[in-house]
Amino acid sequence: MTDSFLSNSAIVAAYREKSPSSAELAGQAARSFPSGLTHDSRYLEPYGIYIERAEGAHKWDVDGNEYVDYFGGHGALLLGHNHPRVLAAMHTALDAGTHFGASHAFELRWAQAVQNLVPCAERVRFTSSGTEATLLALRLARAYTGKRKIIHFATHFHGWQDHVTSGYSSHFDGTPTTGVLPGVAEYSILLAPGDTDAVAAALAEGDVAAIILEPTGATFGLVPVDPDHLAALRELTSKYDTLLVFDEVVTGFRVSPGGAQAALGVTPDLATFAKILAGGLPGGAVVGRKDILDLLDFDAKIRKGREKIAHQGTYNANPVSAAAGAAALDIIATTDVCDKANAYAAALRKRLNEVIETEGVAWAAYGTYSGFHVFTNTRKRHLTPSEFDPFDYDYEELKANPPEVVTKLRLAMLLNGVDITGWPGGTVSAAHGEGDLEKTVAAFRKSLVMLKSEGEL
Ligand code: PMP
Repeated sequence: MTDSFLSNSAIVAAYREKSPSSAELAGQAARSFPSGLTHDSRYLEPYGIYIERAEGAHKWDVDGNEYVDYFGGHGALLLGHNHPRVLAAMHTALDAGTHFGASHAFELRWAQAVQNLVPCAERVRFTSSGTEATLLALRLARAYTGKRKIIHFATHFHGWQDHVTSGYSSHFDGTPTTGVLPGVAEYSILLAPGDTDAVAAALAEGDVAAIILEPTGATFGLVPVDPDHLAALRELTSKYDTLLVFDEVVTGFRVSPGGAQAALGVTPDLATFAKILAGGLPGGAVVGRKDILDLLDFDAKIRKGREKIAHQGTYNANPVSAAAGAAALDIIATTDVCDKANAYAAALRKRLNEVIETEGVAWAAYGTYSGFHVFTNTRKRHLTPSEFDPFDYDYEELKANPPEVVTKLRLAMLLNGVDITGWPGGTVSAAHGEGDLEKTVAAFRKSLVMLKSEGEL
């Protein structure tokens, strides 16, 4: 981004004015971390806010500013920050010890909660993150089928592991991203999202172990997937003895208590989870058909005479994550938290579109379930938000955002007390309430006015 963008903007100046302690910490962080950051999605010019504490749908920065939070722990916090039952479960586990180097009842309750909710979960294997879960799922698929290739889709995210880095935000031609071996990328077939014909053609060529995708579309519906496409993938993968893997790291326990697979009625062979799974703590899982997860089973190895997949992981199913996860999943199973978050997000999308319409901006708010996205219309097409349909746009256009406009939108929203993600958009929790909705809508209106006054709209 240009220096003039940072120095000539009243929004940037006001942001600096409001967040001097964050600026000070960001200055120190630049001497410890590349870009001063520990996660790429937290990148924000001129610097991001430093948070001191959080509660429910809110968080407070080190300068004492309060925000309505739509980052939601990168989607992990369907229940909001510090749900008392999750905290209590964590405290119980913490008091008992943080690592037993042995099996424990917390992990069993956690797995049973997953199995009770998720249709495909005949067996469960916990990992420490979503990235590890997708890595293990693809290895299981290759070992189970004896085939080498995997199919994934442009813009879909499956963590930062080598097999799926191309085509998320760059390398849309499937070439390897820097540091990844060409031989690895060669066996990962990158297709356009939603292209059933291309999938059929790739499967017909043979040697495809698995198709992996985000079942409601890239970045929680930023590039949505038609449910008919999912059904077609189910049929095609069964026909070609290829495994269907749903990456439910975001959609799991959010779209519905049983994830996207329960909501959409398509059962994959394997699914990956993280985020909500562990109640806001680190943790992931691969779940799926018993005959596939048997590749991790010592006895099955002997019975079937095949090589076991080795799988270690110091913090797999650590007791504190397990206790938090089991508590969170119990709340999700027994209350209406998914419906509540979904209803709030639908109301928010509607209200944001009303603001867009009355302010005469050619943008649109859209999304599914408890997510929202703001389409910033890089190509400056004529559009009215009420008629906007993301299926009319290709994935490159939906994903493209003018970086300076999005940065200013995020800074303006922060100035007005709301933290949104860089999609731009966010995830909603069950802790968001009527007051948060009104505050967000008012902040959005003020932010659009601020962007207009800087000639960005
Ligand atoms: N898959 C999807 C769909 C994700 O959104 C993410 C994280 N944003 C991951 C995988 C990776 O999960 P983690 O950050 O826990 O490694």
